[in-house]
Amino acid sequence: MKLFNTVKSLQEELIHLKNQGQSIGLVPTMGALHEGHISLVNQAKEMSDYVVVSIFVNPTQFNNPEDLEKYPRTLEQDISLLEQYGVDCVFAPGIKEIYPDDYTSPRIDLGMLDKVMEGKFRPGHFQGVVEVVKRLFEIIQPDSAYFGKKDFQQVAVIRYMTDFFHLPVKIVECPIMRNEKGLALSSRNARLSEEEKQQALVLYNTLNFAKNNTSNFLPKELAEKCAGLIHASELKLEYIEIVNPVTLEALDEAWITGAVCCIAAYCGEIRLIDNMTLIPEQEAGSL
Ligand code: AMP
Repeated sequence: MKLFNTVKSLQEELIHLKNQGQSIGLVPTMGALHEGHISLVNQAKEMSDYVVVSIFVNPTQFNNPEDLEKYPRTLEQDISLLEQYGVDCVFAPGIKEIYPDDYTSPRIDLGMLDKVMEGKFRPGHFQGVVEVVKRLFEIIQPDSAYFGKKDFQQVAVIRYMTDFFHLPVKIVECPIMRNEKGLALSSRNARLSEEEKQQALVLYNTLNFAKNNTSNFLPKELAEKCAGLIHASELKLEYIEIVNPVTLEALDEAWITGAVCCIAAYCGEIRLIDNMTLIPEQEAGSL
């Protein structure tokens, strides 16, 4: 496995591969890798000839300076993990490689996509995500890029951005990986105590409750019931919404195929997000 820290050295490597007709798959990450990231790597390996994993803690997507400062950084460990999983190369750039002095930020109106849920509670977050992903796409020019549904709204934003700028990259969405009890894996979980990890299971339990009760309640009623479950726990709820998976509009009176329940809540100091598709495609016919 090769490690590149500069745009120039990475591009020198990639140009040869592209000339040979090899397809490039990109897995963008902020490091502190876990099995969720590895599932993206495995998917990328299945669908492409050469897999690049980027590791860059992007400051422009953090709206909270303390969250940025405390974000776990485990580069050496990450590199040896990726080597074990057969990744072809790691791109771990310094900040000036991604944002050189003459860099100009792409501005894109994300409409509703960054006004609801994460967008509402983390102003500027998605502009930062768009900025770094667009820059990585331009540097690497991958054929495909892999993102986790764990960050459901992020995938919607990236799909929109890719279409908006006509970038020729196939966006592949990968399922949420959870621990054996159901807690969605996240780099931030490293900052939870054992007790908090237990408390955080209310997210998964609430999502399952929602999934099992779509035929008993209207979407807005069910969202309220679910909010009640979180309020009754140790977690501090930020939002819970049942939304249209494309427009992210909250569903009110009518269920639709693909309806997703999204939650953000604090467990102690740590902000956690999770989501679940409540009405998968194959079940829609029975409604
Ligand atoms: P991050 O390093 O947190 O920016 O995450 C990098 C990528 O890994 C994103 O596309 C995430 O959605 C994805 N990811 C993070 N956690 C999980 C998980 N538990 N299951 C699947 N994908 C995940």
